[in-house]
Amino acid sequence: MWEMVKAAWVGLRLRCPACGRGRIYRGLTTMNEECSHCGVVFEREEGDFLGAVVVAYSITSVVVAIGVYALIMLADLSAMTHVLIWSIFATVFLVTTYRNMKGIWLGILHVMMGLKRRENSQ
Ligand SMILES: [Zn+2]
Repeated sequence: MWEMVKAAWVGLRLRCPACGRGRIYRGLTTMNEECSHCGVVFEREEGDFLGAVVVAYSITSVVVAIGVYALIMLADLSAMTHVLIWSIFATVFLVTTYRNMKGIWLGILHVMMGLKRRENSQ
């Protein structure tokens, strides 16, 4: 369990969960195919990152639920105002943190399946 939390944390920080040094992304939206430091392949097969959507949805749901609860305690707003606020918040949160969510999923994948180098690389 601790190993998965640690790998997810490294991924959250957009570093390779295998070595902790290489960057997962080389640009704002462009993901590296493999780690520049240890050479493991980040996307082993198509569909590997479907789990990142689940991670993103789960984390966003928890953050929004906590936010809704906190705002209900602090302010007396209508239900429509809450829907508007939290819809906008969830969209912005998802767009701005999706890279990190993908990093978390990469960490989980690394612990569950093991990220490996390409067969023909050294
Ligand atoms: Zn690496």
